[in-house]
Amino acid sequence: MAEINAVTSNFIQNEINDDLKNGKYSDGIHTRFPPEPNGYLHVGHAKSICLNFGIAKQYGGMCNLRFDDTNPTKEDVEYVDSIQEDVKWLGFTWDDRKYYASDYFPKLYEFAVELIKRGKAFVDDLSADEIREYRGTLTEAGKESPYRNRSVEENLDLFTRMKNGEFADGAKVLRAKIDMASPNITLRDPIIYRIAHVAHHRTGDEWCIYPMYDFAHPLSDAIENITHSICTLEFEEHRPFYDWLLDSLGFDVNTRPRQIEFARLNLTNTVTSKRKLRQLVEEGYVSGWDDPRMPTISGLRRRGYTPEAIRNFCREVGVAKANSLVDYAMLEHFVRDDLNNNADRIMAVLRPLKVTLTNYPEGQKEYMLADNSPFREGHRFVPFTRTLFIEQDDFMEDAPKKFFRLKPGGEVRLKHGYIIKCDEVVKDEAGNVVELLCSYDPDSKTGGATANRKVKGTIHWVSAGDALTAEARLYDFLIETDENGDVPADFLAAVNEKSLEVLTNVKVEPAAYLTAQGTHYQFLRTGYFVVDKDSTPDHLVFNRVAGLKDSWAKVQKG
Ligand code: ATP
Ligand code: MG
Repeated sequence: MAEINAVTSNFIQNEINDDLKNGKYSDGIHTRFPPEPNGYLHVGHAKSICLNFGIAKQYGGMCNLRFDDTNPTKEDVEYVDSIQEDVKWLGFTWDDRKYYASDYFPKLYEFAVELIKRGKAFVDDLSADEIREYRGTLTEAGKESPYRNRSVEENLDLFTRMKNGEFADGAKVLRAKIDMASPNITLRDPIIYRIAHVAHHRTGDEWCIYPMYDFAHPLSDAIENITHSICTLEFEEHRPFYDWLLDSLGFDVNTRPRQIEFARLNLTNTVTSKRKLRQLVEEGYVSGWDDPRMPTISGLRRRGYTPEAIRNFCREVGVAKANSLVDYAMLEHFVRDDLNNNADRIMAVLRPLKVTLTNYPEGQKEYMLADNSPFREGHRFVPFTRTLFIEQDDFMEDAPKKFFRLKPGGEVRLKHGYIIKCDEVVKDEAGNVVELLCSYDPDSKTGGATANRKVKGTIHWVSAGDALTAEARLYDFLIETDENGDVPADFLAAVNEKSLEVLTNVKVEPAAYLTAQGTHYQFLRTGYFVVDKDSTPDHLVFNRVAGLKDSWAKVQKG
């Protein structure tokens, strides 16, 4: 595989460089990508993956894959599997360092016991509602729980009994004992363990108490000797609690994880929240997590986006400390950029119109030599016969002056082939154009006497008897947005009912016969396409990856 360079210089590297200069983390840089297996990964996660694995690579360090699986009610092995597939597909490897926060349940329990022994945690009997009430607000200090001053012995006893299953869900929680008056609400005696009599997808019924994310996450990082816990901005205000935890348990400041926050990737026209994406799947707005309209990594893959394109995009977006909205057109730009260089170009007619060449001998077939791509080796032979298909909108009966494709009495060049002239238009009873009777100039193909004769337009075509009939799925944005590209709060009401158009009578040159799922093509003039997994040998299905017009590149140049 080509060398992967997933990050450009950024403020996180400056921080790491400073740490190294100050003698910290002399054993090497160690990062992790820590997804919660409660959904499929999306394009935002790709940014985090590129950053974490990219940084590790740049410093000759390591990056772990760790499942933060502390909430058994929402998690599933299906997600664990898809996440691994997606990270690998993006081009990264965790070697043998695949971990689960659930593997640390015994250690995390010990840490909790240690906090109790140090007088830094207590068992609380307040209900969830009461805890919320006592918490206070941004402008008002919270109130201490009446159970806050239980003795260490009583706390140890109650916590053991919580673990042993003596209490119902919600009857008790373990809380850190910090400061109910702190201006930072996350420091107001946060809950660190809760009772939940539910099976976990890995530990089964072994536990009926589960650590809260804010307790498990920083300690899992510490257990794995992570040096830099890179995460998104919303965790900035949790950092004081993480540091409090590590201080309270005596982790050395020079080696323990340091959290650095960066801005999430937000894309125009795009939902990047697993919860919302799950809603789209479960409520049937899309065909599944890998629907080609989904911004999940599996959706982008099926849509035909490439790992290179996504990595290049993430690198170009960069890493910032302030939230911003990135234009979706920029992601598409990198997809086009990759496919422009790396996809073969063939001819396919999306909406066919029959053309008969009246002066071309019946039964004759010749093969036109065609280069596959200006950027790639290889050529092929395209069959040419008396009956062809062209694109319906490459013909106009009442054409304006500037219309340089086919019109009655007009001429056009067939790509890789002859010049033809439209002599007669055939219509059905309803007046629809159903066929064009044309004549061809026999000397106008490459090498012929009139090969260089100039006509204004060139169009694509396929030989009717040789073409494969295929299905093509054309996509538009799944969510309609305002003029800034922002997704409205009620995103389900903004689902675009025209986001999928299915064409069932697409005519493709035979070169596409028996191509594997995931093969990319540029269909001349109509866009980039990829062979979908729904294809069978006698029914090819293509997804349109993107049209050919690159609005982002244009803006950059203009
Ligand atoms: P979601 O809101 O979609 O559920 P999450 O943050 O809850 O996302 P996690 O599984 O916890 O999902 O995410 C794993 C990692 O990916 C975290 O470190 C998180 O910060 C990062 N991440 C999630 N969304 C984005 C995003 N839009 N841009 C960059 N990083 C992200
Ligand atoms: Mg999260």
